[in-house]
Amino acid sequence: MTAFRFDNSYARLPANFYARVQPTPVAEPWLIKLNRPLAGELGLDAEALERDGAAIFSGNLIPEGAEPLAMAYAGHQFGTFVPQLGDGRAILLGEVTDAGGRRRDIQLKGAGQTPYSRRGDGRAALGPVLREYIVSEAMHALGVPTTRALAATVTGQPVYREQILPGAVFTRVAASHIRVGTFQFFAARGDMESIRTLADYVIGRHYPELKTDEKPYLALLKAVAARQAALIARWLHVGFIHGVMNTDNMTISGETIDFGPCAFMDDYDPKTVFSSIDQFGRYAYANQPAIGQWNLARLAETLVTLFDPVADTAVNLANDALGEYGTIFQKHWLDGMRRKIGLLTDEDEDLDLVQSLLTLMQNGKADFTLTFRRLAASAENATADTELASLFEEPQALSPWLEHWRRRLEREPQPATERAAAMRSVNPAFIPRNHRVEQAIAAATEDADFSLFEALLDVTSRPYEDQPGHAAYAAPPEPAEEVLQTFCGT
Ligand code: AMP
Ligand code: MG
Ligand code: MG
Repeated sequence: MTAFRFDNSYARLPANFYARVQPTPVAEPWLIKLNRPLAGELGLDAEALERDGAAIFSGNLIPEGAEPLAMAYAGHQFGTFVPQLGDGRAILLGEVTDAGGRRRDIQLKGAGQTPYSRRGDGRAALGPVLREYIVSEAMHALGVPTTRALAATVTGQPVYREQILPGAVFTRVAASHIRVGTFQFFAARGDMESIRTLADYVIGRHYPELKTDEKPYLALLKAVAARQAALIARWLHVGFIHGVMNTDNMTISGETIDFGPCAFMDDYDPKTVFSSIDQFGRYAYANQPAIGQWNLARLAETLVTLFDPVADTAVNLANDALGEYGTIFQKHWLDGMRRKIGLLTDEDEDLDLVQSLLTLMQNGKADFTLTFRRLAASAENATADTELASLFEEPQALSPWLEHWRRRLEREPQPATERAAAMRSVNPAFIPRNHRVEQAIAAATEDADFSLFEALLDVTSRPYEDQPGHAAYAAPPEPAEEVLQTFCGT
């Protein structure tokens, strides 16, 4: 039996923060996948878990030291406030300290009902579990802060959705599962004492440097805003669309969480939406930075009375913090976009250069990922321009931009080969393309064939390497393969 060295700080918080609950055992658990490197990082015995981990990762066997609980939270869902959501199908087993000394949550998603399940069954279908596994691990490999996938198991039991589907449990690892919605839960109850307790806990766990700040709660808002600004800029750099940026799906730690209807965009269009339930494009690709700010304003509302005894002063401080978010986001975004087009130095015209490329990409329906990857080749050798331009509906439309870009590159200190290498290290060749994710899910769900899942995981674990044997995985979908909609991860 593998030992988990649990130390459960959340379980030591007041009882109104969570509900203690045991996972509901399943019929026939079978381990689909264990993330061996992550298991190692968490001090777990990967070999032993591969042998007997199915029982643990399905919730049938509670490892010693675990104190299973479901966390309470509220949240704005598509702008509408729901005062009680909570983990309806996620059970926190406990916390371990990883090899780097960081505290990490281990949570089972789909392990049965909790007091917060409302009318849900507390279960997860295999497809969404595989999607979360693939996409969260790809995000990690891309260098984007994210919750991680430790394991996936099938339960041997069906779940009833629009169809009957195989049931599965996902084991999620996170810096913590505290969300904007966790603060909102207490705010909705007028429970300022709990907000202060939660804020102090969060500072101790995620932002210890703020403990001695003159205004620690304002500093906390600013720190969360800065991490979210950096995070959402990273999403934009890799063409990621979260899909359901409700306040309960925004972490305080700054990790990406909740891979429901998320997807990576193929052709560049800032209005891209995949989620079937996002009718009005609230969470479209280019809306994500503004929604981030909207969510942070909801966090600010829960903390504002702690900022200053004078109400007007407190509100002004909150507004300044939210304003700073915009500036920080813009800086991260532009810095990253500069690197994507091979620039090390800053010039005032760079924003225009980036914007004009994006406009050409949008008009030319160019693939987002391939455009930047191929631009690296063009940075080295103009003979690569033809292949790059072929991504655009009217290839010649790109020529003036390329000329302009090359004049700008002449003012850069870096040799061309170095520049191309630097561009390849920020412009992935491989993302988990939506059609590939769907193909992997279909094979697993319909034929219990996990080979496509494994292959996609493997390719996307090295996104910045050319993998000539896997060129097909770099390609956008054929028209017949295109997936235009994703569904909420239930
Ligand atoms: P999400 O859309 O994944 O952020 O989930 C929103 C809320 O619904 C959260 O409180 C979830 O725990 C809950 N939920 C989602 N699916 C289920 C389910 N199958 N059973 C119970 N609760 C669920
Ligand atoms: Mg959620
Ligand atoms: Mg195209």
